[in-house]
Amino acid sequence: MYNAKSKTAEEFIDHREILDTLEYAEKNKGNYELISQIISKARESKGLSHREASVLLACESEEHNREVEKLAREIKEKFYGKRIVMFAPLYLSNYCVNGCIYCPFHYKNKNIERKKLSQEEICREVIALQDMGHKRLALETGESPESPIEYVLESIKTIYGIKHENGVIRRVNVNIAATTVENYKKLKGAGIGTYILFQETYHKETYEKLHPTGPKHDYAYHTEAMDRAMEGGIDDVGIGVLFGVHSYAYDFAGLLMHAEHLEETFGVGPHTISVPRVLPSNNMSEDTFAKIVAIIRISVPYTGMIISTREPEQTRARVLALGVSQISGGSRTSVGGYAVGTANTSQFEVMDARSLDEIVNWLIGLGYVPSFCTACYSKGRTGDRFMSMVKSGKIADFCNANALATLKEYLRDYASEETKALAEKMIEV
Ligand code: SF4
Ligand code: SF4
Repeated sequence: MYNAKSKTAEEFIDHREILDTLEYAEKNKGNYELISQIISKARESKGLSHREASVLLACESEEHNREVEKLAREIKEKFYGKRIVMFAPLYLSNYCVNGCIYCPFHYKNKNIERKKLSQEEICREVIALQDMGHKRLALETGESPESPIEYVLESIKTIYGIKHENGVIRRVNVNIAATTVENYKKLKGAGIGTYILFQETYHKETYEKLHPTGPKHDYAYHTEAMDRAMEGGIDDVGIGVLFGVHSYAYDFAGLLMHAEHLEETFGVGPHTISVPRVLPSNNMSEDTFAKIVAIIRISVPYTGMIISTREPEQTRARVLALGVSQISGGSRTSVGGYAVGTANTSQFEVMDARSLDEIVNWLIGLGYVPSFCTACYSKGRTGDRFMSMVKSGKIADFCNANALATLKEYLRDYASEETKALAEKMIEV
């Protein structure tokens, strides 16, 4: 079925092609006839190539940039309506053998407490997340003999098995280090939702400097992880770069080339694209960040977009309108942060520290419908089955009805009186 692994990382993320793309974008950034043609093509909601998208990113004309933004809002509205899917990260362990210089979990850091949750502690964490109203988790763990695949599988089983009066986790997404086809098959067998792995940067030399030691140093092994995940049967994969660690224009082109490669090789592009950035020191303005989100939205209209609590409230509000369809809420980035209570184990500083209820309240106030829906996953609508429904436009009816039904469930079981009152007004309208 799949034209599996037809290209190596250095072929599908071709450095020369990225440099040529950047040169082409620079040369054409004032070519308004071409820019208008690209915008017209994007209006058909069939996506853009990395070259076309890069021209839009380089474009400095305010008028055209406003047009791109307007189109991003329209496409967002057309495919995603008002719903915003909610999730929370769950950190299992911060032991790590890698030396990633941007991450406090790197093995040389002696100033961080190391912690791996036991299965009993995972239950406590998950019950705390269920108490908030969460239905969808993203598991996070460092790469270490402390947290082998068996531990991850056991943890997933524990989470799905927690029967508690306060609710149930219906979808477990997993963000673990690049691994083998065999291990991806095991994750698939354990019933995971999306497999998520960020690239940080597609620029090989910078990548190798950022990851000086450990298995993650291997650029090709890391970059080809999604090919192996797909070969292992995981058809929903989530990609992303860490904007700010290298030239954003380079990584933007690389990100879209990665999406094109997955679509070309497996017939299905990434399920989600995440847009984390290094904060506070990054090499892009708020306007550039918003522009990147808008162009990703019109370049891959069928791919969900995720933003985490790394970003503050104002930034999140801005990019929600332009394309982001999933956000985390009430997040803790430490191991045991929800209930077990371990200090000094965080991966990054949470810039949006509001509770889930505060975020739900805020989203409703902005006119969105916070959604706890996991129906596609429960019904086996993943990979190309999911994408074909999205492309046919048939998914929107399910999404809107499910978003509302799951919001009502949240309101009944978890919401504050204030949030309930606000939501009831919205539902009546
Ligand atoms: Fe380990 Fe991941 Fe942090 Fe790198 S980014 S040090 S692999 S936990
Ligand atoms: Fe997501 Fe599917 Fe639910 Fe729509 S119906 S919100 S795509 S899980």
